[in-house]
Amino acid sequence: MSQIESSGYKGEALRLLKLADCDIGDIIKVTSKGKVYEGILIPRSELGEGTSIIVKMKSGYNIGIQATADVKIEKVGKGTKPAFASPPIPEQNPALPHVVIMSTGGTIASRVDYRTGAVRSALSASDLYGVVPELSDVAQVDTEIVFSLYSENITQQHWTELAVTVAKRIEQGVDGVVIAHGTDTMAYTSAALSFALQNLPVPVILVGAQRSSDRPSSDAATNLIGAVKAAGEATFAEVGLAMHETVSDKAIVVHRGTKVRKCHTSRRDTFKSINGFPIAKVKDLQVTMQTGQYKRRDPSKKLILKPDFSDKVALVKFYPGLDPSIIDFYVDKGMKGILLEGSGLGHVSKFCFDSIKNAVDKGVVVALASQCIWGRVNMNVYDTGRDLLSFGVVPLDDMFPETGLVKLMWALGQTSDPQQAVKLFKTNIAGEFSPRTLPQEENLTEGGQ
Ligand code: GLU
Repeated sequence: MSQIESSGYKGEALRLLKLADCDIGDIIKVTSKGKVYEGILIPRSELGEGTSIIVKMKSGYNIGIQATADVKIEKVGKGTKPAFASPPIPEQNPALPHVVIMSTGGTIASRVDYRTGAVRSALSASDLYGVVPELSDVAQVDTEIVFSLYSENITQQHWTELAVTVAKRIEQGVDGVVIAHGTDTMAYTSAALSFALQNLPVPVILVGAQRSSDRPSSDAATNLIGAVKAAGEATFAEVGLAMHETVSDKAIVVHRGTKVRKCHTSRRDTFKSINGFPIAKVKDLQVTMQTGQYKRRDPSKKLILKPDFSDKVALVKFYPGLDPSIIDFYVDKGMKGILLEGSGLGHVSKFCFDSIKNAVDKGVVVALASQCIWGRVNMNVYDTGRDLLSFGVVPLDDMFPETGLVKLMWALGQTSDPQQAVKLFKTNIAGEFSPRTLPQEENLTEGGQ
């Protein structure tokens, strides 16, 4: 069946291609302005104008030739259409630990889509297992698709669904769980699961990729192997997030779920532990713990599931000149919590004071984390901080804003009583507060043994 109608070509380009009886995958010769281009006709993004013809040249490069009336197209040969076939599932070794890989979407579960030219979420967890057959030397793998979403589309309801699904599998008895996830909001999900899944008997490890698995430069396989190895064998039992330690493929580190942040748009080592250290490292297929401070694996532990989150929580970033009516707006909208991302040690301008007092008076939990990210808020140093504390603003110690936001959503998902929520919020549940904040250089040295 011809793919040309649904291949993204429009207008003159579509007319010329149909006239020459060309289909996607055919070898074509295009003559334009005295030059001849020969290569494979590939589909174009449906989102573009669709008026240029895209040819994959022998060199591997794609070129676009504007389709004007004087352009000549000739079909030179029939080609094979690009397609994806699920690879076979490797055989299981019963001596290895039993790990479930759940997929939620994102680049790690994606491939380049030849219809739109973009990367799309298309691989199921079992496709992933087939694409990375080395996993069968590391664990007996079971797979499950929980959802297939770019992580920017994940909401509090998805966190709940995921937590419930993980809890079910753990209760059935597995040695570890790996969750393939889009990297954009993976650290929010790792924080959410850290609060929702307490007293874990086995590790739960999120993993992503910066490049999809059909690209030669993909980090999907190394990250996945590291995550599965740690989930099956590591001695800790916490929610972690496994990704490249550096830009090289040498080691995968597992960060604590509440202490990790995406810090770079595209690098493989985009995730960093903030105000903390990675808890484990996987190098040459060996798992080593990087700290003595962790919760131990113990299959006899009984998981405590607290999967509810409130979506009535807003994040307000302070900036010079912030209009305080933004805070009033959220209060009027019925928000139950507001996380302020303050400046420096924990400040917002005095022009916001009345709005903050009003919010607290109306029973809204107002908490504050520093937008500095590294370090700890100290609201006793300047009178601005002391004023905010006197209004009832809750300081977040060394939690960075995203973890603070997720924790506020979680605390308000457990109780509608603001005082109870504040009490929960101040309790260290999953290592989100560190007793002492070390400079990042020290973190790197200690973590990088
Ligand atoms: N934006 C997508 C996501 O977070 C793709 C990026 C990625 O997986 O790294 O799901």
